[in-house]
Amino acid sequence: MRVLAMLDGTLADPEATHIRVDDLGLMRGDGVFETVLVVDGVPRELGPHLDRLARSAAMLELAPPDRPAWERCVRVVIDAWQDAEGASEMALKLVYTRGPEFGDGSPTGFAMGMAIAERALRNRVTGVRAVTLDRGYEPEIVARAPWLLLGAKSLSYAVNMAALRYAEAHDAEEAIFLAADGSVLEGPTSNVIVAHGHTLRTTPPSSGILRGTTQGALFRAAEQAGWATKVEPLTLPELTSADGLFLASSVRKITRVHTLDGEKLPDASALHTELSALYESEYA
Ligand code: PLP
Repeated sequence: MRVLAMLDGTLADPEATHIRVDDLGLMRGDGVFETVLVVDGVPRELGPHLDRLARSAAMLELAPPDRPAWERCVRVVIDAWQDAEGASEMALKLVYTRGPEFGDGSPTGFAMGMAIAERALRNRVTGVRAVTLDRGYEPEIVARAPWLLLGAKSLSYAVNMAALRYAEAHDAEEAIFLAADGSVLEGPTSNVIVAHGHTLRTTPPSSGILRGTTQGALFRAAEQAGWATKVEPLTLPELTSADGLFLASSVRKITRVHTLDGEKLPDASALHTELSALYESEYA
């Protein structure tokens, strides 16, 4: 089941062809995207997702996304999904590109809703094995080289997908990127969160990673419940010595890492249950 709406709010056939072959999103990965989790017809963290879409677009010097048009487009997909599927989860992808190279300069935008992949649903329950992979840059390059677009959610995700394939070929479901100085960055499509006692920590956006909407929601809920939260650089030993290591993203929610680089981590099942309940409490 998939539901597609173009940015002008019209529903379209997801099986049909809509994108021109000279679209720069297709030709060069020149565009930005978001993936929003929708539960029972309610999009989670839509505001932060649209904020991040706008930040990413600004980094690529795309025309500022038309927020009311995106909000309308999201509603059209959700309503059509609800009509067809009833209450269930949906991953809603928002895609915004520079448009056709030989067009009139208009950007391309669409939203497509689809079912959550079986594998993501399974991993939420079982937890995952992860491997650390070198992302190949020093954190100080982030401010010095804005053209690298570190921290933009651009469509150029071939590297991220290759990292996940590499992980799969090496007995793991997930990867965690490290910077050249050994500091922890993020997963190819997730943020890293560690728990030590009643403190949650995640790595800072200044290291060239995405500001996670799921991580943000969890930290909000945790603070309400009396936890301390910190956004600061993390090292690999801090991942392995933590009470719990988690990967957070809209589709994953809070997924537990039980094995890192082949080594079993302390059992964080109870902690996972507690953090998942905190995250869900944001939407109760
Ligand atoms: N980091 C990267 C590189 C991502 O692609 C994603 C989401 O896909 C995240 C972090 C997590 O972001 P969010 O929680 O907003 O889905």
